[in-house]
Amino acid sequence: MTQTIPGLHHVTAISGPPQANLDFYVRDLGQRLLKRTVNFDDPGTYHLYYGDRDAAPGSILTFFPFMDAGPGRAGPGMASAVAYAVADLDARMEQLATDAIDFEGPWTRMGERGIALKDPHGLRVELVEGGLGDDGFHSVTLWLKDVEPTTRILEAMGYERLGVEEVATAGTGGHERRRRFRSGAPERASVVDLITSDAPSIGRPGAGTIHHVAFRAPTPEDQAAWRERLTAIGLEVTPVIDRQYFDAIYFRTPGSVLFEIATDPPGFAVDEDADHLGEALKLPPQYEPHRAQIERILPELKLPRQSGAAA
Ligand code: ZN
Repeated sequence: MTQTIPGLHHVTAISGPPQANLDFYVRDLGQRLLKRTVNFDDPGTYHLYYGDRDAAPGSILTFFPFMDAGPGRAGPGMASAVAYAVADLDARMEQLATDAIDFEGPWTRMGERGIALKDPHGLRVELVEGGLGDDGFHSVTLWLKDVEPTTRILEAMGYERLGVEEVATAGTGGHERRRRFRSGAPERASVVDLITSDAPSIGRPGAGTIHHVAFRAPTPEDQAAWRERLTAIGLEVTPVIDRQYFDAIYFRTPGSVLFEIATDPPGFAVDEDADHLGEALKLPPQYEPHRAQIERILPELKLPRQSGAAA
């Protein structure tokens, strides 16, 4: 039984119409569409999963693409950025320039070079050259008013403090303080950054914002142990929920970010061939009888070709 969360499992965000979302993550960022399914709580909306070739936990970014989502903005109490690890930032910048995709940077943060992009609906996506190679996520950033309660939860999950960095925030005269945490048993996607800012800002959920951050439990037994431990430190944790490709438990942190702990098994090949992930609309058993109606409601999606970039 592990006493330490090894890293992130997935990050789930909200976007606008799905075709632009699909084009950006597959064509421009070189991600693989791993699953084309519906929001289990709202089956008239897609749930799209992207990740690496192997559909590995720690590389998985998922979206609820609402046709009519209003624009959101990141602010205190929300996860504000997701970062991919890249082996060669210069090559990636060249490819983005070739593809006429704008980015901010390069900057250096915590000794690592990176750039930031906005996806078509405003989500901040960073590429960080961190010595991890092209290997899933580098990190997720949580923007908080007060970092202490979330620090205690991360430490209970086996995360260790790595360092602090303070930078001026462009155009505001304010400062942003970044505290870095890393899993004590790091695999991929092992970094969580907590930022606070003295520049006034108010977040709003909507397109381009992160809905929740999911951490990994390698086995269902690990997940059960985490549920007990987190409940014991006073968090309200949901029962285990079957999400078809993993089992999930959720809890809201006092910093107000929604956390999930998701199991590695059964994975994305549970309902379609591993070589053909994402090609067909997959529905969980409870919606299969309504397939014809659901297919009528969902907008048509065309899988784009990948550009020269590969994440
Ligand atoms: Zn999730």
